[in-house]
Amino acid sequence: MVKVTGTLMWYYFVCKREVWLMSREVTPFEEDDLLEIGRLIHEDSYKREKKEVDLFSMKIDVLRKTNGRLLIGEMKKSSSYLMPARMQLLFYLYRLKEMGISAEGELLVPKERKKEKVILSKDAEEKVKSAISDIQKIIALDTPPPAVKTHFCNRCAYKDFCFA
Ligand code: SF4
Repeated sequence: MVKVTGTLMWYYFVCKREVWLMSREVTPFEEDDLLEIGRLIHEDSYKREKKEVDLFSMKIDVLRKTNGRLLIGEMKKSSSYLMPARMQLLFYLYRLKEMGISAEGELLVPKERKKEKVILSKDAEEKVKSAISDIQKIIALDTPPPAVKTHFCNRCAYKDFCFA
């Protein structure tokens, strides 16, 4: 069974079809400008505090201790994807909790100099668990869910694949 990752959690809140495509490693076009911009922002911003940590297969962008508490961060290129990014971060907090590690999250949008605190409440935890179960069902499908046009499609690297 394909492991549910933070990336798949992010895609789940953008497009269910994309979850399936990503899980099958259908690679979007590498030259896509948005992917490139994302890479550049990732490399250039928050350089002084940025550390990417690979913790038990989770790619965590920022990790530090503040007032004795672990703080993890997730960097995104635009606030138009804040909700998926928030859920991705909650997923990491949930996984850490499963390992017995209590942590808080911080969502960062370097281009807009935005920061948002993210806490794993009981409701948020339920939402994460239900998304994990749904992602597993999507991945198990033999064919991808149908393409449904949304405002995310214009900026999606799969748009030619879905609508050409
Ligand atoms: S183009 Fe639209 S339907 Fe296709 S994977 Fe991307 S977001 Fe989903």
